[in-house]
Amino acid sequence: MPEVRNWQLGRTMAYPYPEHHPDWQFAFVFNINRCIACQTCSLACKSTWTFSKGQEAMWWNNVETKPYGGYPASWDVRLLALLDEAHQAAGIEAAWTSDTTDREAPYGTFEGLTIFEAAARGQPQQQQALGYLPADEEWRAPNIFEDVTPEGRPAKDSLGLQAEGATLPEHVAWFFYLQRLCNHCTYPGCLAACPRKAIYKRPEDGVVLIDQARCRGYRKCVEACPYKKSMYRPTTRVSEKCVACYPRLEGADPASDGVPMETRCMAACPGRIRLQGLVPIGPDGSWADDPQNPVTFLVRHEQVALPLYPQFGTEPNGFYIPPRWAPRPYLRQMFGPGVDRAIERYRAPSRELLAVLQLFRASQRVIFRFEIEEGPRVFETEIDGKPWTMYDDTVIGFDKMGREVVRLSVEEPIHQRPAPHPNSI
Ligand code: SF4
Ligand code: SF4
Ligand code: SF4
Repeated sequence: MPEVRNWQLGRTMAYPYPEHHPDWQFAFVFNINRCIACQTCSLACKSTWTFSKGQEAMWWNNVETKPYGGYPASWDVRLLALLDEAHQAAGIEAAWTSDTTDREAPYGTFEGLTIFEAAARGQPQQQQALGYLPADEEWRAPNIFEDVTPEGRPAKDSLGLQAEGATLPEHVAWFFYLQRLCNHCTYPGCLAACPRKAIYKRPEDGVVLIDQARCRGYRKCVEACPYKKSMYRPTTRVSEKCVACYPRLEGADPASDGVPMETRCMAACPGRIRLQGLVPIGPDGSWADDPQNPVTFLVRHEQVALPLYPQFGTEPNGFYIPPRWAPRPYLRQMFGPGVDRAIERYRAPSRELLAVLQLFRASQRVIFRFEIEEGPRVFETEIDGKPWTMYDDTVIGFDKMGREVVRLSVEEPIHQRPAPHPNSI
């Protein structure tokens, strides 16, 4: 198998195809701390792309409550268990080295097996990627166990988390919402596994698509996608997945004014947790050093947003600012060893980070570049025993053509209604 470079693992890894990279990569950052689980994103996608016969149980975008929620049910726990078995059989520990200062290997080096490497060691070697095919009933509920905390579940839960009810004076209940769609991976498991070569990654934006005419519905992609974001449609007998709303990315939507526009699920988010972007990619697959691109800034420079299960090895292009309140071991398993640094930086954001955080969901146009105009100091406090200062800076976002599309200050301006109409809208 060819060796490809995976920056999230800090090393090369085996993958069925040689490296070939797009000019730009569709990517997004979700701030889990802000999500209210309103499911507007899920419905925005469903009402656009999956409202037809045969797509009833198909949610390209879903929001699930962790630790127990999952769509399909227990998708991550099941794959983690399979990987655990593979590591035990190989006598390898799925560990990370702790060196996290190298910008090209920001989470250290993963020394365990990816889904591709685990499959290559399996006997017989039938799979391109370690995976499983969920049963029909596992797709039925998009968010079962909604708002259920580990403490709210009956005793003897399979994850070994605290199973007794929360009691005062200590309240240790926790859960969080995980927003999910196809990660348009750099090394997609779905693409690797397709025997028809019906799945491809677009050179212009890295979007991963299934050619509906080539697909024969073997469901190898459903089995191999570690995030379970390729789905089978029984009425057409072919598989379907998120298309990254590519007409909007191409600027073909009438409202887009000819420039890349946010996808439906991103543009609909009232919690303002989503920031979608296109990041420039170098010929060797590395992210171009473009700190004024908001996604590059958050992921590579501030390192406050992390990939979902980077150890799977597909180099996903969706990134998450982890929740501050969930247990760290659980978060490290889900987002890798960068969790502590990311939460520390989010809790006491730098001046620049605080300004960029205002850009989430601020414009329907994809923001390619930002600038910050410095404003006055407005607040001082202490966070984690260190002094912290807030400035009322202004952040300006520009579209692909370099046109200003948004201008926001850190402090929200106060608008006073005229006295005769204090309650009018
Ligand atoms: S629309 Fe936004 S706030 Fe609502 S569930 Fe989706 S990601 Fe969360
Ligand atoms: S998330 Fe799954 S469906 Fe999407 S590109 Fe990655 S492997 Fe393929
Ligand atoms: S990007 Fe478009 S197709 Fe993909 S989940 Fe969001 S709304 Fe659906």
